[in-house]
Amino acid sequence: MSIYPGVPGGKLQLLLTISTTHNPATDLGFLLYKNPSAVHTFDMSFGKLYVFYPEATEEKCTVAILLDVDPVGLIRNRKTQSFDGPQLDQYVNDRPYVSSSFMSVALNTAFRTAFSGKSKERQELADKAIDFEVSIPCIACRGGEKILRDLFEPLGYEVTTENIELDPNFANWGRSRYYSLNLKSKCKLSQLLAHLYVLIPVLDDNKHYWVGEDEIEKLLRVGKDWLSKHPHKDLITKRYLRHRKRLANIASEALAKLNEEEAQDPDVVEEKHLAEEAVLEEKISLNQARINKVVDVLKELHVTNVIDLGCGEGKLLKVFWELKELRKIVGMDVSHRSLDNAEERLHLEYAPEAKKDRIKLIHGSLTYKDNRLSGFDAATCIEVVEHLDASRLTAFERVIFEYAKPKHVILTTPNVEYNVKFEGMPAGKLRHKDHRFEWTRNEFQEWCHQVANRNGYSVRFEPIGEVDETVGPPTQMGIFSK
Ligand code: SAH
Repeated sequence: MSIYPGVPGGKLQLLLTISTTHNPATDLGFLLYKNPSAVHTFDMSFGKLYVFYPEATEEKCTVAILLDVDPVGLIRNRKTQSFDGPQLDQYVNDRPYVSSSFMSVALNTAFRTAFSGKSKERQELADKAIDFEVSIPCIACRGGEKILRDLFEPLGYEVTTENIELDPNFANWGRSRYYSLNLKSKCKLSQLLAHLYVLIPVLDDNKHYWVGEDEIEKLLRVGKDWLSKHPHKDLITKRYLRHRKRLANIASEALAKLNEEEAQDPDVVEEKHLAEEAVLEEKISLNQARINKVVDVLKELHVTNVIDLGCGEGKLLKVFWELKELRKIVGMDVSHRSLDNAEERLHLEYAPEAKKDRIKLIHGSLTYKDNRLSGFDAATCIEVVEHLDASRLTAFERVIFEYAKPKHVILTTPNVEYNVKFEGMPAGKLRHKDHRFEWTRNEFQEWCHQVANRNGYSVRFEPIGEVDETVGPPTQMGIFSK
C-alpha cells in the first residue's frame, strides 16, 4: 500500500525530491507545469515514472520523482543481446535503486518546459534565483565524496553527503559507491535542472543508452551557461560522453570557443561589430564573387562529388545543389547551430527524395581525423582556416591533405593587406570577431606551398574581388591538386 493516493506502493523507489521555501512555495507547480494536487504518471521505455508533491503549502513545496524501473523489461527491450542470452547481472543490478541516467531522462520528460526556463504563468519567478533543496536518497558515484563535492560546489551548492554502507553481515564490502546526497542552492530552476541532468549520469559514470554525436549537442545546450567555466569541465565532458575520445575532443573544442568569446572585452566586441557593419555591404558582393569563383573552378576541374568543409549556413551548398553534375554533396561543420540553419536554408525536409539523396550534412571538426571526409573529387574550405587556432593548423593539414586526400582542395581566406581599404575598420583589426589570424598574400602562399610540398599536391592562386594595385584582392584563393 502506498501512502500517496494514486501512486502504487511496493517496489517503487523514491529517487529525488526538489523543495523550495520561496513563498508562495506552491508556485513551484507553475514552474514545473505540474499541478501540486495531482499525481502525474509517464510511461517510459524502462518503466513508469511518477511525479507528485508530498508537501505543498505556501511555506514549503516539495516535488518527488519516483521511478519504477523494470529491470527485466530493460533487457527484453534491448535491441542486442549476448549470444548466450541475458546474463544474470543484467537482471540483478542496481539500476532500479539508484539515481542514474534514467533519472536524467525522467527529469527531461517530466519537466521539459521548465528546462527551457519558460513559464507561461510565472515567468518572473522562472527568471529569478530562489532557494532550492534537492534530496537524492541513493546516488551511485565513482570516485566518492570528493567527486560529489568537486562537481557541485563550484556551481554554488552546499553539499551534504553520506556513504551508504552495505550490509556488513552479508559480506565485508568496505566503502560502497552509493551515497545519499543533499544539495542546497539559490538559483534558477532551469539551472538546477540542467545541473542535475548532466551531473547525475556523470557521477554514476554509466549510461543506459548508446552515446552518439547528438549527445554532444545535448551537453552543449544544457551546459551552455555553466559548463565552459566549470573547473572540472574535462572530467564532466569525458564521463558524460562515455569516454568516447573523439566526441569529448569535439565538445572540449566547442566549450573553449564559448569561453573565448565570453572573455572578450565588451568594448572591443562592440568596436569589431561596428567594423563588421562597415564591411557588410562590401561583403555581400564579395560573398557572391567567392561563390561564383568556386563554382567556376569546380566546373573547370570536372568535379562530380564535393565536400564543403566548414560549410556554415550552407550558402555554397545551396548553389552546389542546383548543379546537376554534382552527384554527391556533403557539408560539414563543427557548429550545430550552423548545420541547423543550413538544413533550413536548403529546405531539406521538403525536397524530393532523389534530390535529397545527393546531399548530406555532417557534424565534425576539421582538426580530427575522420573517415567520412575521404573519397571526394574536391574539398572546398571557404573562409574557414582563419577560424582555426594557429596551433591547430598542422592537425588541419594532416586531416585534409594526409588522411582525407581529395583530388583537389579549394581554399579561400581574407587577404589582411586589403583591410586598410575597409572604411571605418581600425588599423590592425581583423575582419571578424572569430578570426584567429589573417594572412598577407606572402604568408598565405608560403603556407600553401609548404602544405602542397609535404603532401604531394601542386598549388596555384587566384584573386577574388576587385584587385587593388598595392594591397591586392580582398580574398585570396589557393587551388591544390594531387
Ligand atoms: N564556408 C562558409 C562559412 C564560413 S565561417 C561560408 O563561406 O559562408 C567559418 C565556419 O567554419 C563556421 O561555420 C564555423 O563553425 C566553422 N568552423 C570553425 N572551426 C571549425 C572546425 N574546427 N571544424 C569544422 N568547422 C569549423
